[in-house]
Amino acid sequence: MTVRVCVNGYGTIGKRVADAIALQPDMELVGVAKTRPGFEAEAALRRGYPLYVTGGGDPGEFRRAGLKVAGNLEEMLRAADVVIDCAPEKAGKENAPLYRARGIRAIFQGGEKAEIADRSFNALANYSEGLGRERLRVVSCNTTGIARAAAVLGRWGVRRWEATLVRRAADPSESRRGPINGILPTFQLPSHHGPDVRTVVPGLPIRTAAVVVPTTLMHVHVNQVELERPPADLAEVREAFAKSPRFRLFRSWERVEGTPQVMEFARDRGAARPDMMENVLWEEGMALAGAELTFFQAIHQESIVVPENVDAVRAIFQLQPDGARSMAITDRTLGIPPGT
Ligand code: NAD
Repeated sequence: MTVRVCVNGYGTIGKRVADAIALQPDMELVGVAKTRPGFEAEAALRRGYPLYVTGGGDPGEFRRAGLKVAGNLEEMLRAADVVIDCAPEKAGKENAPLYRARGIRAIFQGGEKAEIADRSFNALANYSEGLGRERLRVVSCNTTGIARAAAVLGRWGVRRWEATLVRRAADPSESRRGPINGILPTFQLPSHHGPDVRTVVPGLPIRTAAVVVPTTLMHVHVNQVELERPPADLAEVREAFAKSPRFRLFRSWERVEGTPQVMEFARDRGAARPDMMENVLWEEGMALAGAELTFFQAIHQESIVVPENVDAVRAIFQLQPDGARSMAITDRTLGIPPGT
C-alpha cells in the first residue's frame, strides 16, 4: 500500500517533512501548500512537488510570480489520504474543522494543544498508541527530545526528573525576532514541557523550567534524574542511549564542545539538509552517582520532529505494526545512522 500524503504549511518544519515523505518507499507526496509565493515555493516546484495555495492566499499572486499552482487546499486534500499540518502554531486549530469535514486523517505539530488529536505521538515512546488513529499530534521539539530520553531511561524506572531547558531564541531563518540581548527566564513554573511530555509518557514525574538565550542553533537540556533502580555503571547508561535509535553520543576525542560543533558535524555529514534529527548527548556530559543520573542533551529544533512525522503516517495506516521497524525504514531513508 502506498499512502498519499500532503503537507499543509511549507515553512521550517513543513519543507523538511515534505522532503522526508518524498523519500519513503510506502508513501507518495501528492502536494505541499503555501500561503504566498517566495523562494521556498519555487524550491518546492523545483523538487517536483505539486504546489497548492492555502491559508487564504491568492493563487493569482503565485501565477504573477511565474509559479505554477495545482489548486487550493480543498483540492490538495482530495488528492491525499492524510494531511500533515505544518502551519504556524495555533493555525492548525483553524485548519482542523476542514480536515474533519473532508474526512481526511491528519497529523498536527507541537504548536497545537494535545486535544486537537486522538493521541500525542513519539515513535520511540508510544508508536503502538498511534496505530489506526484518525488524528495524531507529533509533540514539539523539546518534548520529543525528552520523550525519547524517557523511553530509554524507562528500563531503570524514573522516580524524579528535573530538567532545565535552555532554549534558542529563534530559528536561523528568522529575521524579525532573536537572537536576543539577554537571558530570559520563562515565568511559567513549572514550564509547560513537563505536562506536555506526560501526554506521551503518562505519569512521568518530570518538572521543567526554561530560559531563552541568544542563539538560533539548538536547545540544550540539563537533566537531573533519580532512577528507581541504579544502573550497574555509567557505561551501561551510555550504551543504552547509544544503542537506541535517534541518539548521537559524542565521544571526547570528537571535540564537540557544544552546539556550534554539533551543527558543523551535521554540515560535514553531507546530507541534503545539514540537520541533526537525533538527540545529541555527550559521553563526558553524563554523570552517575548511585541512582542519580545527570546528563545534557541538545535538540535541533528545526529537524528533530521530522522522522516522527514519517512514523506517525506509518502508525495511522498501520503500514508497520512495529515501531522499531518503522523507525528503521525512516532512519535509513533519511540517513540517520542506526544505534551502535
Ligand atoms: P513556519 O512559520 O516556519 O512555517 C509555517 C508555514 O505555514 C509557512 O510557510 C506559512 O506561510 C504557512 N501558513 C501560514 N498560515 C497558514 C495556514 N493558515 N494554513 C496553512 N499554512 C499556513 O513555522 P514552523 O516553525 O515550521 O512551525 C510549524 C509547526 O511546527 C508549529 O506548530 C510549531 O510549533 C511546530 N514546531 C516548530 C519547531 C521549530 O523550532 N520551528 C519545532 C518543532 C515543532
